[in-house]
Amino acid sequence: MPSHRSEIRTPSPRARALLVLAALLSAALVGGCRRGDRSSARPDVLLITIDTLRADHTSAYGYARPTTPRLEEVARDGVRFTTAYAPMATTLPSHSSLMTGLLPRALGLLKNGVAFDHPAPTLAETLTASGYRTAAFVSSFVLDRSFGLARGFATYDDHFEKNACKSYGDTWEGFQLSAGFCRRGAATREHAERWLEENGYLGGTAAQPFFLWIHLFDPHDPYEPFPAEAAMFPPLGDPPTELQKQIAAYDGEIRYADDQVGRLLDRLRAAGRLDDTLVIIASDHGEGLMDHGWMHHGMMIYDEAVRVPFLVRWPARLPRGRVVQEAVQLADVVPTLHDLLALPPPDRALDGVSLRGALDGSGALDPQRPIFLQRRQYDREVDLGMPVRGEKFGVRMGPLKYLDAKLEQTRELYDLPTDPAELDNVFRTQKRDAKPLIDAMHGWLARPVEAPPPGKVSEDAAKRLEALGYVQ
Ligand SMILES: [Zn+2]
Repeated sequence: MPSHRSEIRTPSPRARALLVLAALLSAALVGGCRRGDRSSARPDVLLITIDTLRADHTSAYGYARPTTPRLEEVARDGVRFTTAYAPMATTLPSHSSLMTGLLPRALGLLKNGVAFDHPAPTLAETLTASGYRTAAFVSSFVLDRSFGLARGFATYDDHFEKNACKSYGDTWEGFQLSAGFCRRGAATREHAERWLEENGYLGGTAAQPFFLWIHLFDPHDPYEPFPAEAAMFPPLGDPPTELQKQIAAYDGEIRYADDQVGRLLDRLRAAGRLDDTLVIIASDHGEGLMDHGWMHHGMMIYDEAVRVPFLVRWPARLPRGRVVQEAVQLADVVPTLHDLLALPPPDRALDGVSLRGALDGSGALDPQRPIFLQRRQYDREVDLGMPVRGEKFGVRMGPLKYLDAKLEQTRELYDLPTDPAELDNVFRTQKRDAKPLIDAMHGWLARPVEAPPPGKVSEDAAKRLEALGYVQ
């Protein structure tokens, strides 16, 4: 039936146009869905935390020395929060807050060396339930799986070889350390890259989105930069003081960590995945560097100890080069991801809020939202060159910050725009200005805490620690 065949082979111009349109639409839908799975509804999520990184020592936040050229790039390509806070200057509680959207006080987790075991779902659990392949690569024993944050991760890489890191002492938080305490950023990054390769994310065909958390520990003391970074940051001062030498070494460690971040992003870019990846970079706390008489972290909640970098990069959906001034906190990460990724709503009220409007410009944050801070729990009075007694709480609201340590009998109020170093306590002269902050703090402290105080690590975990060479 030539006429019939001819009809099929040669459709009318109108039918041909319709066929072409249908083919185009179908291709667009298939392509759209494939892209949509990754670039809008379910992008890859890369979370990088750089331990002990105070915001004002990164060139991404205006530091005069070029400590973080790669974070500068991320800020140019994404959104930079100028006023981001860790809830306390202690690694495990701070990371736990980031991973749950709850403050350490709500988690009942106020120090290192105990186990996170709150029933709130972790980000890894939530993303696993939403179809993500999850993996974490951490760089310090402080985040060993025994302390609870491995929950929800299909892969949790916490291998610390002896002498693979820096010169730590023999004990930490009551643990006898005969195994390694940490590892260098390059080792952590290389493990993570191998996981990406093995799972088809670097040039492969993986369809399942990933949630990858990388924790870098290099800026944590002792500061022992490699020669390349040490040479880039000679100590200031002529002759330099011991403190200036230490600060230069700290800056060198920051540059090294920044380089690891850059190398990892380069791998994702080369694989064509970077711009469809939601990248979040933050730190768990800062570092004292003697600004208030204390070199390291833990006991202080002045800005040098708790103000951290916080960058979000996702060119597929978020503007480039946006800067957000309102104060935010690590606990905002979980609700923000629920919102951005259209995940089911959290199963409980969270301390954090979604930053989506601030990220994409569709809404503004409340500039008076209180951001609560507290220092780590010391089980007894300690003398760390200065006496530390009892609890200390803080709240940032708008331009003001109020700090209260009952047993130390100190109440402090700082006007941060005019006194960013927190050196001029104006509490006595501006008590009235402190009132809304004190009220907010009392409201926060009056909230019931559902979490039982976390105990020691479980028996299983203790056995694992012992097998690894850590004995408490
Ligand atoms: Zn830390």
